Amino acid sequence: MAIKLYNTLTRKKQIFKPLRDKRVGLYTCGPTVYNYAHIGNLRTYVFADVLQKTLEYNGYEVKRVMNITDVGHLTSDADTGEDKIELESKKEKKSVWEIAKFYTGAFLNDIKELNIKKPETIVPATKIVVDQIKIIKILIGKKYAYETSKAIYFDVAKFKNYNKLSRQPMHQKITAAREEVIKDPEKKHPADFSLWFKLAGRYKNHSMRWPSPWGLGFPGWHIECSAISTKYLGQPFDIHTGGVDHIGTHHTNEIAQSEAAFGKPLAKFWLHSEFLIIDQNKMSKSEKNFITLDTLKRRNFDPLVFRYLVLTAHYRSKLNFTWESLEAAQNALDNLREAIKNLKTATQHTNKLENVRVLRKRFIEEFKNYINDDLETPRALALLWNIVKSKKLDSKTKYALLIDFDKVLGLNLAKIKSEKIPAAILKIVKDREKYRKEKNFKKSDELRKKIESLGWLIEDTPRGPKLKGNLSHT
Ligand code: AMP
Ligand code: ZN
Repeated sequence: MAIKLYNTLTRKKQIFKPLRDKRVGLYTCGPTVYNYAHIGNLRTYVFADVLQKTLEYNGYEVKRVMNITDVGHLTSDADTGEDKIELESKKEKKSVWEIAKFYTGAFLNDIKELNIKKPETIVPATKIVVDQIKIIKILIGKKYAYETSKAIYFDVAKFKNYNKLSRQPMHQKITAAREEVIKDPEKKHPADFSLWFKLAGRYKNHSMRWPSPWGLGFPGWHIECSAISTKYLGQPFDIHTGGVDHIGTHHTNEIAQSEAAFGKPLAKFWLHSEFLIIDQNKMSKSEKNFITLDTLKRRNFDPLVFRYLVLTAHYRSKLNFTWESLEAAQNALDNLREAIKNLKTATQHTNKLENVRVLRKRFIEEFKNYINDDLETPRALALLWNIVKSKKLDSKTKYALLIDFDKVLGLNLAKIKSEKIPAAILKIVKDREKYRKEKNFKKSDELRKKIESLGWLIEDTPRGPKLKGNLSHT
């Protein structure tokens, strides 16, 4: 069954066929590691994971590559402002390397908790500076780039169809970048973007620095993705993903650099995930509306509840985050886990075996129809619930189908165990509740530890305590 994906480049849903046999090259723009990822960022990585899992479900082998931006991403897309990581290092009084290492670790932990498969290849920008310099040299050689006293710029006027991804008229881009014209009068065109920054002006004391044919300096943000994708996936490769905010600048510039340097397309499909919004605004690291996975955990939400919430919206629709919607996702996932526990105990089919086969095939086809239609996860979830509630299917078939669908949905349903909570544990939980109500937290904490030592995790939810231990997602 064909997979159809919406390609931002053509603004159409197109049938996906890999460039090389059954192996798909998938590149995802990674995080800028100057702070924790917020749940908006994480929505975008859940989307890329569902894409990978959908491809794998269809029998493709996915080679997934992701960068980590640990240098060169400035506080403004228009090549102005400070390097985000340098700025954070001053704030936290730590070295830039410590900042990058710490937030990279935090990000990898977040994706693990969201059951996002770790990309096969992850490359920090600082580990690939030599390759970035090589591409810049090619661009200068081909006259797509020029040197000023402050930087090496990409000459956008030289690259035909610079706007092909964004379709944004050039005059709009120029208006947006006007401030920059004043800041660097040496730029030929206001939309020209930096490939390399010299240690001049504002960047004189930039601590991350490398030798280059243009003296000491550091790479601009976009060039890392061109260098990493070409090195690990070749050019062209199959699919490039990111959030919609990357369309106008970052991905537009990646295309310009890579295609100008190597004279061939960068990627065949460009997929972009819409924003997670909160109170009508895009969630953003520079705003106060920033919620992390840790915030959710502190409020006793399981990270996979956030994954479930993400799946309830199509990736090309905005997802409006509210605590109520997260509560609803928590309830749904609790119910699903409960259903799985009950279904799992079935050892035999009660349906006739031929019927089981036919029904199973029919539902798997329907599931594939949804996810292969540009990753229609909301419809896939609705189907999953139809199966849970179905009167036609026996428990064993239901269980097998749900576990199969979960290869794409990634809710870790296969890890749910069906064993009963021992009465002795339930008794301790009850005692602990009594102490909690009396505000005797010392005693209730002691009992929590006791429960944990017996292999069970207790979670205090707004609806009362919940035991997770052996049923946890890890
Ligand atoms: P950054 O760490 O800022 O480079 O962003 C990491 C990823 O998150 C990029 O793919 C962005 O496009 C994406 N992103 C940023 N803000 C949001 C948001 N509010 N909702 C969804 N994705 C976002
Ligand atoms: Zn990128």
